[in-house]
Amino acid sequence: MIINSIKRPFGIGPKVSIFTLGTMRATNSLDKMYGVIKSAYSAGINHIETAPSYGNAEKLIGMALEKLEQEEKVNKNKWVITTKILPRGNIEQLKVKYNQSKKNLKIDRIHNLAIHGINLKEHLDWVLKGPGKIFVNWIIKNNLAEQLGFSSHGDYELIDQAIDSDLFNFCNLHLHLFDKSKIPLAKKALSKKMGVLAISPADKGGQLYAPSKLLKKDSKTMHPLELAYRYLISEGITTLSLGASKEEDFHLAIKLANSTSELNENEINIIKNIEDQSSKRLGDSKCGQCRECLPCPSKIPIPEILRLRNIAIGNGQMKFSKERYNLIGRAGHWWEIRDGSDCRNCNFCVPKCPNHLDIPHLLKETHEMLIENPKRRLWD
Ligand code: SF4
Ligand code: SF4
Repeated sequence: MIINSIKRPFGIGPKVSIFTLGTMRATNSLDKMYGVIKSAYSAGINHIETAPSYGNAEKLIGMALEKLEQEEKVNKNKWVITTKILPRGNIEQLKVKYNQSKKNLKIDRIHNLAIHGINLKEHLDWVLKGPGKIFVNWIIKNNLAEQLGFSSHGDYELIDQAIDSDLFNFCNLHLHLFDKSKIPLAKKALSKKMGVLAISPADKGGQLYAPSKLLKKDSKTMHPLELAYRYLISEGITTLSLGASKEEDFHLAIKLANSTSELNENEINIIKNIEDQSSKRLGDSKCGQCRECLPCPSKIPIPEILRLRNIAIGNGQMKFSKERYNLIGRAGHWWEIRDGSDCRNCNFCVPKCPNHLDIPHLLKETHEMLIENPKRRLWD
């Protein structure tokens, strides 16, 4: 059966489903990619998100869509595809990369082209004033993409500047039930009629597909992942990325394919209960994520580290917090550079915290609680 799902405006490009297929987890083989895309189609998903940096994902998508057209008569042109380009290189190199993506995906024109990872000021400068500007002008002049966007793992101010540049029609951001810090940016982008994609709400949002006993208990009658999806949808986020590797990964996408209503009373109460229980466990050591303590002279990302502590202690998602913490300093500009052990105890931050937290002590304690051997990222 094929689900008849709602499709919503995504910038100035074609309308997209509430869920977007993320392809990073299906790159083992053509069979795998084909199976995942076929399941996504059945789940009412029409939007695929990829990048040349995800191994051979683009090539496999191109082949899988062709196969689906031949075997199941699913018109290739029904799909909306977003791919990306890293903010580096000169115009000739960028043209080669653009054409390679198009060739891999076996399409005549890219629907949504995103600058991949505007994570630092130099990346935004690259696209607004540097070689990226020449490339973007080439794309626009020759009508080589339906719209331009960006993805970012950068800080609030940088994303705000990227949105304000008015160059982009969509953005891919980290938006999570357990990290609402970028929600105002998403709302700003939406008010400018940009499309907004939430990056990895299941995994980077707290590994919500594997809730701890505590989180399951606090979430009462609803699975925390379903609640997280509902929260983002109700905030108006256009589409949520779903990094699937098997058919079962789509069951919530099927369940929520048309679920655009506001949060109901039950959902509001469960979210409140999760927050209340978390606050109880953290007591007066809870970081309120207000960011007043920044900037730290040693560039410690205090709110990010203490957010991992909040999630580990308050929600019991220890495995998630450990994995994210141990990636610090090992993922270049895609994640934080300094961890709690880099704190110099200068105490600059302490008087700025409205919650009167002993920040240096909490950073030390968090480091001791979360540090272990690092895991590898899915892509480099
Ligand atoms: S005490 Fe540590 S976290 Fe606070 S400002 Fe100094 S170095 Fe930064
Ligand atoms: S000022 Fe205090 S509560 Fe706010 S983010 Fe920093 S540590 Fe957390």
